[in-house]
Amino acid sequence: MRTLFIAFSIAALPAAAQLVRGEYPETRRSLEFHLNELASDAMGGRLPGTEQGDRAAKYIQTQFEEAGLEGLFDGEFTQLVNIPEKGILPEAGNYVNIGAVGIALRTAYWPHILSDNREVEGPLTWLGYATPSEVAKAKKGRIAVIVADIPAKKVKKLGKLASLTERIEAARRHGAQAIILLQPVNGSPKLDLLRRMRPIGMPVVTVHDLDACTNLKKKAKKSAKASIGVHVVPQTTTAPNVGAWVNRGAPETIVIGAHYDHVGWGAWGSRMPEAEGQVHNGADDNASGTSAMMELARKISHTPGFEHVNFAFLAFTGEESGLLGSREFVSRMPSKMGKVKAMVNLDMVGRLNRSDSLRVYGVHTALEFKEMLESIPAEGFYWDLRNEIFGRSDHAPFISAGIPAVFFFTGLHEDYHAPGDDIEKIDIDGLAEVVAKVDHFISLLGQASPLSVQTPNDAR
Ligand SMILES: [Zn+2]
Repeated sequence: MRTLFIAFSIAALPAAAQLVRGEYPETRRSLEFHLNELASDAMGGRLPGTEQGDRAAKYIQTQFEEAGLEGLFDGEFTQLVNIPEKGILPEAGNYVNIGAVGIALRTAYWPHILSDNREVEGPLTWLGYATPSEVAKAKKGRIAVIVADIPAKKVKKLGKLASLTERIEAARRHGAQAIILLQPVNGSPKLDLLRRMRPIGMPVVTVHDLDACTNLKKKAKKSAKASIGVHVVPQTTTAPNVGAWVNRGAPETIVIGAHYDHVGWGAWGSRMPEAEGQVHNGADDNASGTSAMMELARKISHTPGFEHVNFAFLAFTGEESGLLGSREFVSRMPSKMGKVKAMVNLDMVGRLNRSDSLRVYGVHTALEFKEMLESIPAEGFYWDLRNEIFGRSDHAPFISAGIPAVFFFTGLHEDYHAPGDDIEKIDIDGLAEVVAKVDHFISLLGQASPLSVQTPNDAR
């Protein structure tokens, strides 16, 4: 699942009856096999654009082939997706000079994610926190100096307007031609903000050096002259979505998807920056969902019947970088699939024992989903059916495109986006149970008449 920073809490439900252990021996064996491959150290945390990420994609393709599935993309199994990587920051074109005195790139300041590649010179102006009243008094055409971190008291008063992005935008609207943010810290910060620049048409930098911050405040109050240049060279890599299908020649298709990428060695996307360099194996996130999806592909390809619907199986890349693989897939869906009847997303389904509940988001995206899910017996766990969409995984682009979709999830935990998300902590019997329930749900979907699509307001 895409990076999320929240406090973890375990739902206070009464204890469910014990799950029957070892109930699905064949499924269990397949799942264990896949997990041992995908979540191994040799897969290096499945970072897109790396040899290890490609190895994971090849493994998935081989499984599809061995299960007798057809490549989804005109017979091919892969669809390439562009994924932004950290930009390059050359010395040339990057500078902040106050009068004739320069501030050091990287050690004292970094370009901000909102910056454009531009060069600007002019007088500084002091905007404090750039609150609406401070911004209203700003002189136009100047380089605005703004304190980045705002006190809690002001946040309470300003609400949404207190966010740094809002304050930067406000300064821009009031005629600032460049922005210098002050965010003093001890030591030099390690930033990875250059992966996905969102330029707003002017240079924006963040100064972290304590002395430089103090000096800038003083000089800005005196309208000293300054010059500032930003030059970030964007970089991208490519990685494949892996897709296969059981083509029954039917006019509609059910899509079952799971992202296979994760955050590699934690250079970005980790909740524990101090753990950079350690493999973030992502056994739950999302070797669990990928393994379940591959097992469903094997089962369905061997199940006769369902002549009136096709099944497509997708292992998405670039989920952790912003649902890039699923967005790309939705924007270029193979026309042979016909109408997509529904999408089922499996992301982090390996810890059913954590709360004894299997959560499903997006239940209201088709009128029939709730009844279908409630008709499936929950043995040893509780259904936790939610109408919310929870937009941070691969079902979201499908919902935005008007396709009903549900997201199966066994909950967040302390190893989320950390090196401890290991195979030993996967509840393999629980995962086999999830596969059985999703299999049941898919068969209900396959038999159902056309679904009544609900267009949610909160689809993102
Ligand atoms: Zn994730």
